[in-house]
Parts: sequence; structure tokens; C-alpha cells
Amino acid sequence: MVRSSSLGYPRIGADREWKKALEAFWAGKLEESEFELQLQEIRLSHLRKQQEKGIDLIPVNDFSYYDHILDTAAMFGIIPERFAFEGSAVPLSVYYGVARGTKDATASEMTKWFNTNYHYIVPELNGASPVITENKPLIAYREAKEKLGIEGKPVIVGPLTFLKLSKGYSASEFDTWLNTLLPLYVQILKELSAEGVQWVQIDEPILVTKLSDADVARLKTIYETFAEAVPGLNIVLQTYFESVDRYADIISLPVKGFGLDFVHGLQGNLEALKTFGFPADKVLGAGVIDGRGIWKASIREKLELVEELTKHVATENLVIQSSSSLLHVPVTTERETKLSSELKNALAYADEKLDELVLITKAIASGTAGVLEEIEQSDRAIQALQQSDERNRSDIQQSVAALNVQQPERSRPFAERHAAQQTKWQLPLFPTTTIGSFPQSAEVRKARQLWRKGEWSNEQYEAFIREQIDIWIKLQEEIGIDVLVHGEFERTDMVEFFGEKLAGFAFTQYGWVQSYGSRCVKPPVIYGDVAFIGEMTVEETKYAQSRTSRPVKGMLTGPITIMNWSFVRDDISREQIAYQLAYALRQEVEALEQAGIGMIQVDEPAVREGLPLKEEEQAGYLAWAVKAFRIATCTVQDTTQIHTHMCYCEFHDMIDSIEAMDADVISIETSRSHGELIHSFELNTYKLGIGLGVYDIHSPRVPSVEEMTAMIERALRVLDPKLFWINPDCGLKTRGLEETVASLRNMVAATQIARDQH
Ligand code: GLN
Ligand code: ZN
Repeated sequence: MVRSSSLGYPRIGADREWKKALEAFWAGKLEESEFELQLQEIRLSHLRKQQEKGIDLIPVNDFSYYDHILDTAAMFGIIPERFAFEGSAVPLSVYYGVARGTKDATASEMTKWFNTNYHYIVPELNGASPVITENKPLIAYREAKEKLGIEGKPVIVGPLTFLKLSKGYSASEFDTWLNTLLPLYVQILKELSAEGVQWVQIDEPILVTKLSDADVARLKTIYETFAEAVPGLNIVLQTYFESVDRYADIISLPVKGFGLDFVHGLQGNLEALKTFGFPADKVLGAGVIDGRGIWKASIREKLELVEELTKHVATENLVIQSSSSLLHVPVTTERETKLSSELKNALAYADEKLDELVLITKAIASGTAGVLEEIEQSDRAIQALQQSDERNRSDIQQSVAALNVQQPERSRPFAERHAAQQTKWQLPLFPTTTIGSFPQSAEVRKARQLWRKGEWSNEQYEAFIREQIDIWIKLQEEIGIDVLVHGEFERTDMVEFFGEKLAGFAFTQYGWVQSYGSRCVKPPVIYGDVAFIGEMTVEETKYAQSRTSRPVKGMLTGPITIMNWSFVRDDISREQIAYQLAYALRQEVEALEQAGIGMIQVDEPAVREGLPLKEEEQAGYLAWAVKAFRIATCTVQDTTQIHTHMCYCEFHDMIDSIEAMDADVISIETSRSHGELIHSFELNTYKLGIGLGVYDIHSPRVPSVEEMTAMIERALRVLDPKLFWINPDCGLKTRGLEETVASLRNMVAATQIARDQH
């Protein structure tokens, strides 16, 4: 019989009650026992929901107190030495210490979970001597069974993925670590088996990345060991986010089933399935419902896909599931009351996706006749949005199609522009600037609140913003900065601000997803053709420029960043969406230039994180990302200086693309990359203007002049002094006023020293 399965359910709760409980506990407002009770209630309600919906294989141990990778590390007692952990069970104080830091020990590093916006805590293996502290999957299994009579499917992060995502060991130690962990995994599985567990889901998303022969050999060792140790346990090897690498090797592993992503890895997995077939005695977990997007699925199309799959897999060996855990989507659309019905009806969050899984399963098991009404309803909803005016802006579609005729290019190459810009701006050696935002004080946030609530009129609020601009223009002049900014006081968020002013965007009330720990984000939804409606930033920028004779840089968020930090429609390609955004932003760039703004920064911090997991797709993505940036910025005069900004390290593999963006000046965050970035510039002579951040903005500490001088000198060893700018690592909106002013003063002093010396 065909079954439905869920791979993981969002932790945060429909009302973010999980987040609230965590934060109350951290603030000391919840006793530990009360906290545990609240979390149990949340966990059980999620299980109950999946049970009521009729999901056959319900996951347990997908729930977490913070992050599932941290859970896995804690389960094996892998706690960095600085937390002085001893004993058997990891107490919550230590667990949260690793995640968030304590007064004596810094937190473990946090990094992005594959190509999602979820961040996990990176396990530190150095100095660890792994033991089982508690069998967390077993505890979760028992709880579900005792409290709800659910025969749960424990979810465990697999050993290859766990080790690959960990740090604190050298490549040559990999197998030693594997040999250390394997017996512990075996112990966990044996206990599950002895308890009568039927199905275990072992998550190995690392299998969608490039695997070496050694990795394949390791997989064999791992899963042969498991097969021998727990022959009765049905292990499903679960992959997601892309098609698997080395399909033929993987499907010959001795497990009961394989979970494959037929949404984000559709092409690759389907092709492999056709080429290599699928073992007759195995189960295929067919990830047909998108675990990452927020759109309703066309049930008809999914049934066609399933039909295709059943040419290779017997129906009774099929499990219908989401492409990945539902961790990456919001909980339920039920409470969205402010969206147009066309949009709302076309959305599916986690709960609605569970319904889709059950619906597809029913249709396969007993034919479509019994569920015709539901199938038609979903068709109608998708069609209604598809036919809406917002998705059929022929003006936009034609303009964007016309962009394709020519490669977007500035009228002259950088060297010539640079000379023209120098003549116009007469900037000193090592010009100083900042990245855009200045401290968003309590006063600024309060003012915005009053305005949003309607207690302040537009005039009142705008006057307040102008006052802030005045204060900071004066301060910047007084500190001695060369290229000024207006400070971004009118913006809450660098994506939302633009989304609210462009056509094609919607904002949900409950579209929250976990980003890291208790931190949730509510990405805007790009549901229609994106279009410029009117000027977005001109007024504030023009005002700032009117208050000073120094250049004020206009400040925009770039197309790729807006796209990567939104939920986007899935009926056209991301490339097309990026071009629409770029075309809209170009109109803002032109409006700024018209208004007399001669320097314009287009921030692109999120280019790197959109990089496809498959190496062979990366060049293609970078090419259109670069093109989108150029569409947005190429029509300005030679003397108009285009800036861009990127944060986060790991740029070494994309310096060519950064150069191809052809921005006159780029500012890049440096401090967190530990010199790696500077090293990559040694190998690659960057030929455009560049500011390597000279101080970390993530801490309130005021860096000394000497420190910044050292940073500057280090950078000047590899970069052309004539092209070098001096700036902080990133925007300063999270910092306080005093530390910001003091840091910037030191930055200008360090610049003066550098100027005297060069
Ligand atoms: N201009 C933005 C700011 O200064 C850039 C922020 C970012 O790169 N994340 O806040
Ligand atoms: Zn930044």
C-alpha cells in the first residue's frame, strides 16, 4: 500500500510559541520544569496534528530545543572543552551555552544549512571524546507512543553528513572520527530496534553534494555496519535539496529505502532513476511536495510525476512525502486574513502541504474519483493566481525580454570611468565611507511604531527622519568622512523596505520560518511581476545631499539579495525574477542620478548564499546574478560612481564574478574571514575600487587606531593604493551612537596615518 510520510515539522508553532518559550526561559522568566512542559505541549500538538491529518509515517526527534545538529552533537557528548562539560546528560545551561555563548565561553560557530536560510551550530570535534549522553530518538519515540499512540519514525542526522558539517579535525582524521562515531550510532539504532521501532529516517543531505570515491566507500562501511547490527530495522536513507550525486552507488547501499527530492532535484533524480532503475525490493520515498516553497502544488501534475515513478517502482513500495523537512516553511495559512483571496488560496504552508501529501496518497491508492473535488479546487486556486493581472503584466514582461538583446554594459570600461570620476569627485587617497545604516536607536524604532499605528502623521514622521539625517550628516562631516550616507533611518529591513514599494510583492502575517535558534524571519512573498511604481529612496537621499557639499551615496538593495531573501513564485525561473527586480531597480538608480545623486550603492550581500549546491550549476547562476546587477546599474553616466557591498566571507571562489559586476567600488566584510579574503586577493589582482572592511561591526567594542592601521597595511600589501577605500565591515544599525562615533573617529585617524605613509 502506498503511504504518506512527513520528514520533519516546523518547530516554531503557529503563533511562534516555541520561540516565545525559549526566550522566556533564557530571560529567566520560566522555570526549567515549566519550560520543559511547554515544549512538550508544543511537540505533542505537532504530532497530534500530523496524526489527525492522516500521515502514515510521522517523524519523531525532528523537534529540537534549538537546532538538530547541536542535538546530535549533544547526544554524542561533543561539547567544546571551554564549556567544561562532564557527566552523562548535557544540561540545558551547557546546551544553550554552546549555542549562544556564556559569560566565560564563546558560542560555537553557526553556519547555513546547505542552500537554505536555516543556520545550524557547527560541532567542534577537537578534544571531544564521544559517548552517548542520551538516546534522544528513543525518548522521542517512546513519548509519541505513550502519549498519542503514534508509531513514530525517529529522524537522525547520518554520520557522513554529521562529520562533514563538523570542524576541528584534519582531512586525514576523518576515518578515525567515523570509526569513533559508528559504534555510537549502532548503539542508538540497536536500542531503537529493541524497542520495536519499525522505520528510521537517516538524513544524509550531504549526498546531494559532490562525493569522492572515499566518501562512497565510507557510505558502504556505514550502512553495511548498520545492516549487520540491526537487520530488522527499516532504515530510509533520506536526501534532499538536490538530486543525489553517485546515484548508482547510493541505491546499492544495504538499507530498506531511499528518500529522493523530486522537486529541487527533479531532473537529476528522474534521469538517474530512468538510467539505473530502482531496486525492486526497496522503498522509494518520493519527495514530490515542495518542502521549501510556499505554493500549492498542482495535484494533477504531481500525480503525473508519480505515474512516471511507478514505471520504475511498484506502487506498494512508494512513500509520498515532501521534498525535505517542512522546517523551511511557515506553519499554516489558516490565520492569514490580510492577503487577497487569489493569493491566499494559492498558498500552502506546512499544514496544507500535509493535506496535499494525504490527498495524493489517497488518489494513488483508490483513484482520483473520490478526491476529484479537492483536485479541482486546487487547480482552480492555482489558475486564479496564474491568470491574475499581477502575474500578467505584459508591459514588464516585454521590457524585461527586451533587456536580453544586449549584454548590459557601462558605456566605458572601468579604467576610463575611474579617471573621469577622479576628475569629478577629487577624492583624497584612501577615501573613507560607511556601508549605509547608522544606529537605529530606541527613539528611531519608537517613532516608526507611532507612525505605523497612525499616532504620528506622515509629516511628523518625515520631519523626524529628516532630523536624524541632519544629525548624522553633521556628525559624518565633523568626523571627517569623505563619502557620506543618509543613514537608512526610514528602513526596518533592507528587503522589506523595497518590497513594500514595488509591485508584485505581498507581506504575510504569519509567514514565519526559523532562521537560527529562536530567531525567525518573515520573508516577503514575490507573487506577481515585479514592477517599479515610483521613487523609493530619492526623497531622503536628496534631502541628505542638500545638507552637505560632500557626496552622499544613494543606497539600494540589489536584485539578487531581494530575491534570495524572499519567498518567490515558482511559475517562472529565478533568473527571470532577478531580471524583473533588476529592471525595477534600474529605474530607481536612474531617478537618483536625475535627482543629482552621483554615487549609488547597490548592496548584494546575499549573492553567495544563492549559489547552487551542484558545482556544474554555479557558473550559470553567477552569470545571471552578475547580469542582473549590471542591468540595474549600467545605464548611468561614466562619472556616476556605482558602489556595491557584500558581507560574509568565502568569496575566494567567486572573485571573477565580483569583478564582472563591474561596480566602480565594492566594500567587503573582512573581519570574520580571518585573512582568507586578503589571501585570495593576493592570487587575483582585483582591478576595480575596493574597500576591505577595517573593523568588525558585530561587537560594541571600539577598535583602536593601531588595529585598523594594521588591517589597512595588510590589505595594501595586496591591493592597489589608488583603488583602496576605507570603511567598516557592514552597516551600523545595530550599534550604539557613542561606540559608532568613537570607532569612526579612530577609522579616520588610521586613514590619516595611512595617507601620510603612502
Ligand atoms: N546598506 C545596508 C546597511 O548598511 C547593508 C546591510 C548588509 O549588507 N547586510 O545596513
Ligand atoms: Zn554587510
